[in-house]
Order: sequence, then structure tokens, then C-alpha cells
Amino acid sequence: MAAVLVVTGPSGVGKGTLIENLRQRVPELELSVSATTRRPRPGETHGVDYWFLTDEEFERRAAAGEFVEHAAYSGRRYGTLRTELDERVERGVPVVLEIELQGARQVRRTMPAAVQVFIAPPSFEALRTRLVGRGDTETMAHLDARLQTAREELAAQDEFAEVVVNDRLEEAVAALEAVVRRGVLKAKGDAA
Ligand code: 5GP
Repeated sequence: MAAVLVVTGPSGVGKGTLIENLRQRVPELELSVSATTRRPRPGETHGVDYWFLTDEEFERRAAAGEFVEHAAYSGRRYGTLRTELDERVERGVPVVLEIELQGARQVRRTMPAAVQVFIAPPSFEALRTRLVGRGDTETMAHLDARLQTAREELAAQDEFAEVVVNDRLEEAVAALEAVVRRGVLKAKGDAA
């Protein structure tokens, strides 16, 4: 059984930080590096934070069926490359995907065994503050669009059996770890 964890939820909710902390507690969990057509933010590295692709390259790979899922988000494209998953799944290495809602829905259909967790903010206002606080030009230029998308994404949390509210980081990480130990690592054990 594929030991795949999908972490979704609105942009700015803190999925990345949660996953970083989770991976310190569960070091065997590897991170799928997504592809995107947005520009790198300061400090982001190609191949580490994202595979930064041109529109043409993304389209070519999408047409070639190289993505497990892909979506347009806030005017940019994002997707999970099959190469990020295939070999790990084959070796039984658990892998985590940090993706937005449309992608999570696609994975729900194509990989029903994947465990999905929705990360929710304590309130919409908290989410807004986080997004504004990020302060990078890309986010600010698309702030209204991102907030509108976030509203729509929040409305979809009922689709998820596992919802973790990211209020206090320690508690949220512990809750996420519990889901992983119950679902993902157990799935890996079942396969062995
Ligand atoms: P950001 O531009 O802030 O890094 O990401 C914007 C949104 O795209 C976030 O919600 C993030 O989780 C999502 N995202 C990142 N990688 C992927 C991916 O591979 N597929 C999909 N569907 N969404 C992604």
C-alpha cells in the first residue's frame, strides 16, 4: 500500500512549517518537491523548495502525463511530478505532499489509499494576518485573489476526515504526527 500523506489547506495556514516540524519527529517521511511556474521567493532554492519551471516546460510535462496532479493557483501552476513519488512508493518510503485543494481532490480520486489532512487556521483573520505578514511581492500582488481562494478552500474542510487546526504549533504538530503514525506508517507496515 502506498504510504502517502497529503497535507492541504489554504495558503498561509502554515502547512510548510508544520511539515518541517513533523519531519523532525518522523525522519523517515520524505518530502515531495513540487513543480511551479511562480518565481522563487527570496531564499528559495530550485530542487529544494520547488522545481521552478517555465510555463512552456510545465505545459510540456503536463501534456506528457508527468504529473500525479496539477492545478492552477492564483494565476500560477503547481504540480506533483510522478518522479517524486514512484521510486519512493516502490521502496516503501513514506512521502508527504504539500498541495492545495484541487490537487488534493485529484489525489483522492487517483490514490484513494493516501491519507489526507486538512490544515485549518484558528480563524480567517489569523490567516489574513499570516499572509500579509509574509510580505513578499508575489503574495502581496495576488493578496486579494489568495484570500478569496482561501475562503473557498476553508469551505471545503468538511470533505476531510482529518482536520488539524494550526493554532499552537506544538499541538498541531503532535496532532499531525498522531495521524501519520496511525495511518501512513501503519500502511507502510501493512505492505511489508
Ligand atoms: P506558494 O506559492 O505559497 O508556495 O503555494 C501556493 C499554494 O500551492 C499552496 O497552497 C501550496 O500548498 C500549493 N502547492 C504547492 N505545491 C503544489 C503542488 O504540487 N500541487 C498543488 N496542487 N498545489 C501545490
